[in-house]
Amino acid sequence: MTDTQLMDKLVSLAKRRGFVFQSSEIYGGLGSVWDYGPLGVELKKNLKERWWRSMVHERGDIEGLDAAILMHARVWEASGHVEGFTDPLVDCRTCKARFRADQLDQFQCPQKPSKHPGEANQCDLTEPRMFNLMFKTFMGPVEEDAAVVYLRPETAQGIYVNYLNVMQAARQKIPFGIAQVGKAFRNEITPGNFIFRTREFEQMEMQFFVRPDEDERWFDEWKEARMQWHLGLGIRAEKLRFHEHAPDELAHYAKKAFDIEYEFPFGWHEFEGIHNRTDFDLSRHQEFSGKKLEYMDPATRERFVPYIIETSLGADRLALVVLVDAYREEEVEGELRVVLGLAPALAPIKAGIYPLVKKDGMPEVARRINDDLRRRFPVFCDDGGSIGRRYRRQDEAGTPFGITVDGQTLEDQTVTVRDRDTLVQERVHADQLVTYLEERLAP
Ligand code: ATP
Repeated sequence: MTDTQLMDKLVSLAKRRGFVFQSSEIYGGLGSVWDYGPLGVELKKNLKERWWRSMVHERGDIEGLDAAILMHARVWEASGHVEGFTDPLVDCRTCKARFRADQLDQFQCPQKPSKHPGEANQCDLTEPRMFNLMFKTFMGPVEEDAAVVYLRPETAQGIYVNYLNVMQAARQKIPFGIAQVGKAFRNEITPGNFIFRTREFEQMEMQFFVRPDEDERWFDEWKEARMQWHLGLGIRAEKLRFHEHAPDELAHYAKKAFDIEYEFPFGWHEFEGIHNRTDFDLSRHQEFSGKKLEYMDPATRERFVPYIIETSLGADRLALVVLVDAYREEEVEGELRVVLGLAPALAPIKAGIYPLVKKDGMPEVARRINDDLRRRFPVFCDDGGSIGRRYRRQDEAGTPFGITVDGQTLEDQTVTVRDRDTLVQERVHADQLVTYLEERLAP
């Protein structure tokens, strides 16, 4: 299977099983905007909840926040986005395609796929033009410059402008952090690769406020903690690596930056960034708003603008990592089996429940088990088609357990529980199912 085939198969599975659909599909779709279906919304929710639990609930030093998408337009002047959140854009006059001038080596010339844009004889590229990635809209009834607001291109700024509010309300002291999950929007020039780069996406960002002289220690700590978190999702270690930004790659605000990269079928790419943003953001907001954003150390009475260590993870990109990493094809008894080997804690549906045949009271028993389990876990009762087909449908959906009601169930109230990965079947008493699943679904 080639890498392109793998992506094609994943996109088609995602649609078939209801993970991800193209936005506005019946109108021909909207470029690089995607909708999450019944299973996709569960997967993404599981990822976001797990992140929230590890960032906010399991720690005493991080608070949650849910800031609005729309913010005062001056925020984006202070942050540098109005001036600098741009990508260089080039057009090809011959084939009318559009590329990012800094990423030509990642694209194929539409006319001559063996070459990069600009390399084939017929290519005729324009000079690069700077293009701002922020979506603009207008607030209030008049469409004039004074009413311009932006759809936020990152969630971080909502945290910076609220840092004093949160610190005082939650009675935190430095070092402490603020975590947020929310939508962000970027009018990307060359989006693509399914949900890897989209124009509307979700971020899970955490900003950790520290003393300026403790920035390096905290940076190293967060860098390691974030890698461990991904390993804890069951992502294969050999598919993960750090990439340190060279001085010429560093963003204007960053002193140091590491990406966590995954080896996607289309190459190694970032899906989380850990950045030492220094006091850049708070100093700029202090300057642009005229409000003091200093911290006073209660012990030493020292005043300083805190440094910020940021961890910034895309929920959609993480969902793609998890899906790609989990996808496998196997041959079982001469038949192709497609499996999403998702960690049980991440799987959208935890167990499929199947009456072996549609008679002898088996469907009724299966439905009773289903009603009992669904109060605790998302489960799915399926009595359509051969048992093998039903298993395979749930294998593709990533469902870790299959519970089958058969003739013996009617005699002794035991069912078989099939493990998606090992295919081993165990007999378990129906009364023990909750405990059985709970033990195996623990995070
Ligand atoms: P890239 O170089 O891929 O454009 P970036 O360096 O601009 O990304 P950051 O601004 O550091 O990315 O964003 C942090 C995280 O947000 C990324 O690691 C990614 O997971 C997610 N992200 C950023 N842009 C997009 C997008 N267009 N679609 C989906 N996720 C995104």
